[in-house]
Amino acid sequence: MKSLFFGGVHPAGRKELSAAVPLSAMALPAQAAVLLRQHIGAPCEPLVTVGDTVCVGQKIADGGGLCVPIHAPVSGVVDAIEDRPHPGGGVCPAIIIKNDFLDTPAPTMKPYSHPERSTPTELLSIIHEAGIVGMGGAAFPSDVKAKTGMRQTDTLILNACECEPYITADDVLLRTRTSDVLQGLAVLSHVLGPDRTVIAVEDNKAEAAALLREHLADFPGVELKVLPTRYPQGAEKQLIQAVAGRQVPSGGLPRDVGCAVFNVATAAAVYRAVYEGTPAIERVVTVTGEGVKQPRNLIVRTGTSFLEVIAAAGGLTDDVWKVLSGGPMMGVAQRDLSVPVTKSTNAIVCLSNAQNGEAPHPTCIRCGKCLEVCPMRLEPLYLHRYSGAGDLDALDRLHLMDCIECGCCAYACPGKLPLVESFRRGKRALKEGVK
Ligand code: SF4
Ligand code: SF4
Repeated sequence: MKSLFFGGVHPAGRKELSAAVPLSAMALPAQAAVLLRQHIGAPCEPLVTVGDTVCVGQKIADGGGLCVPIHAPVSGVVDAIEDRPHPGGGVCPAIIIKNDFLDTPAPTMKPYSHPERSTPTELLSIIHEAGIVGMGGAAFPSDVKAKTGMRQTDTLILNACECEPYITADDVLLRTRTSDVLQGLAVLSHVLGPDRTVIAVEDNKAEAAALLREHLADFPGVELKVLPTRYPQGAEKQLIQAVAGRQVPSGGLPRDVGCAVFNVATAAAVYRAVYEGTPAIERVVTVTGEGVKQPRNLIVRTGTSFLEVIAAAGGLTDDVWKVLSGGPMMGVAQRDLSVPVTKSTNAIVCLSNAQNGEAPHPTCIRCGKCLEVCPMRLEPLYLHRYSGAGDLDALDRLHLMDCIECGCCAYACPGKLPLVESFRRGKRALKEGVK
């Protein structure tokens, strides 16, 4: 089948490593390190102090502006508020909770009565108060996305592509909690009022697609679109192109072309918030790769360390090469495995030495392969050169900020040049305006 967007690549999926293992809940951690930066926007400020007793689901941090609250993932006592490593890089203040293993729920953890009769404004408030963010990795506050899309969205898309290799967290959610995901989507549809609601799934998820088809009888008007598998189809702009045939302009947003895109795990979180009164305190994490002994999907409370999640999957193999937060195309390599799971940690991918394909050539050989695969039609070879030279005017002229950091260029590059790292550096320099 022909690709429905420009560029892209077809890396080995390796989803079979974890897809067939039944979803299970991980044991609760003895300590939860709850990072205060788990969304795009302003970090939260703590609402608790050292020595306070907290319940599961209790709001423990919040802030103003572009910010959603953070809740306690375990019950217990606040042991410390201190800097901890962040899976996105650097360090970040965290509330450290010593688990009392009583799992005492906060009084606020109760279902809303008659959510189906709630107004869009009331539903937005529930989504905000539950601290829900884009759980596919973007971490943008979901209430803000939904609110700014109201009256501008004619097409609502549920992004069930999960195009990153290795990751199966959304696939397993679709197969085990199909109805929850669809009810969460129905809530988002009620808020946004689109003309068209589409679930987009790639053709490598036949079982999930079949289950969705069965359940759609209860959700009239929702379409299922099965797309040919191709990376990065799950990126918002590429998905909108594939589903609605519309091009988001440079620097623009999906709502500029009448679209809103939400991820599967986000829809499931919306369901839990609205129908069960549970805020964003846990998520499905795929822990997989040739570098971990028993790849699987686990339901993990936020604040649990990567090390504990990896231990629950049998531990690392002797030939582990690197551990990533996220997939091999867009993930961030981790140095310190005490780093905690956040709301947007969809996967911990452990690669072995056999996957180490780094740096045969130190320089660009001008083969042009990166130009052919860039889904944003950028010129990665020049972006790399100008980022290295610190030429901000050239980076701006060549639209570096449109780069979605998908890694297609680096994947296709025969020299295995560190293109994405170079673009991230260039973007930081552009934002800060320094050469
Ligand atoms: S990482 Fe950026 S430059 Fe490279 S292919 Fe993706 S969008 Fe294009
Ligand atoms: S693919 Fe790599 S080697 Fe080829 S032109 Fe692009 S940056 Fe240069």
